[in-house]
Amino acid sequence: MKQSHLFTRTLKELPKDETSYNAQTLLRAGFIDKVAAGVYSFLPLGCLVMDKIRQIIKEEMLSVGGQEVSMPAFAPKENWEATGRWDDLDVLFKISASDKKEYALNPTHEEVVTPLAKKFIYSYRELPFSVFQIQTKFRNEKRAKAGLLRGREFLMKDLYSFHADQADLDKYYEEVSAAYERIFNRVGLGDKTYLTFASGGTFAKYSHEFQTVTEFGEDLIYICDKCRLAVNKEIIDDQSTCPKCGNKDLREDKAVEVGNIFKLGTKYSAPFDLRYSTQAGKKELVVMGCYGIGLSRIMGTVVEACHDDKGIVWPESIAPFKVHLISLKEDEVAEKIYNELIAKGIEVLYDDRDLAAGEKFADADLIGCPYRILVSKKTLALESLELKKRSAEEAQIVKIKDILSYVQ
Ligand code: ATP
Ligand code: MG
Repeated sequence: MKQSHLFTRTLKELPKDETSYNAQTLLRAGFIDKVAAGVYSFLPLGCLVMDKIRQIIKEEMLSVGGQEVSMPAFAPKENWEATGRWDDLDVLFKISASDKKEYALNPTHEEVVTPLAKKFIYSYRELPFSVFQIQTKFRNEKRAKAGLLRGREFLMKDLYSFHADQADLDKYYEEVSAAYERIFNRVGLGDKTYLTFASGGTFAKYSHEFQTVTEFGEDLIYICDKCRLAVNKEIIDDQSTCPKCGNKDLREDKAVEVGNIFKLGTKYSAPFDLRYSTQAGKKELVVMGCYGIGLSRIMGTVVEACHDDKGIVWPESIAPFKVHLISLKEDEVAEKIYNELIAKGIEVLYDDRDLAAGEKFADADLIGCPYRILVSKKTLALESLELKKRSAEEAQIVKIKDILSYVQ
């Protein structure tokens, strides 16, 4: 894409009413726009990143047999009354429609997916299965000051699984946990993300969170470096040692919960009377699991975890473009290189604007594409380009004819 065509541009000023690094930087770099506290528009650069995160998550959910669905953003009050959450859930947004009925803007979808499953489950033969969606959630969060980490509207992947018994759920839960690990590795958060033991509700001793260590994190976790596991502060009194090796020497750190897997048991199948008949013809409650990941929270967390004082350093897998091509008044050659890279399937943001070099470099550092290629009189005199990795200190001079082998 040519940068002169991009309808957004980077901002010079820090947004005044944002305190979090991720929101300040994503706003300044033109990935998002703020509409209200915790409510953002995603701009072209932001959508490119979000699409890549979406694709990675979708692939991994399909790999554990998840079937994609798309459930509505709002659901009738009755669904939420059935589980008691109409009154109990403090983050629930409530609306009324022209039929005078009340609805909730769904903050999660157990109240929709359980009645959906009930329409298709009769016997043990239909089990197990799992469904997922990547969909907008609404939560009336009290503190919406953390940018994309805590939106009032945000994008979540939620997977729900349905099983005949606990043993089958336990087995599937481990498969999803492994898929989550792959997701966090693929989005570039692997080395900072810990499988974390958290409280489990009524049906399991623990649930598990995936916590990414960052300074801005709202959670405190206790890390066992031997096992690469952690324990959430909320259960540290019951579990003051590593749940795997018993190590007492746990290290405290701040972290953001990027994902959560939970054995629901019959918590939601009971109120909706979701049952199946066993081989012996007995009616039993279906056993469920739920598994969430915040896509917009991942985007914010990556910005918190991967940046320097000049801007974002995107992991290659989710960068808006792989290459930021900068022309310093050498548009003819730059245009040729741009077209050649695109023909090879490389995603390029081409800064063809009539701006000073310093401004172009500052924008490239702020936006954070993995490779910067510079075309200038100086480089062309050597039949070369200047190539700089966003994560490296130094640039290198590369012959024009060799450039592909560096960025492909
Ligand atoms: P938290 O304790 O941070 O409020 P939660 O336990 O309420 O999170 P879940 O209900 O388990 O979160 O939601 C699943 C995932 O959705 C979380 O792991 C997180 O990645 C994401 N998420 C939850 N709330 C928000 C939010 N307000 N904004 C962005 N992402 C969110
Ligand atoms: Mg919450």
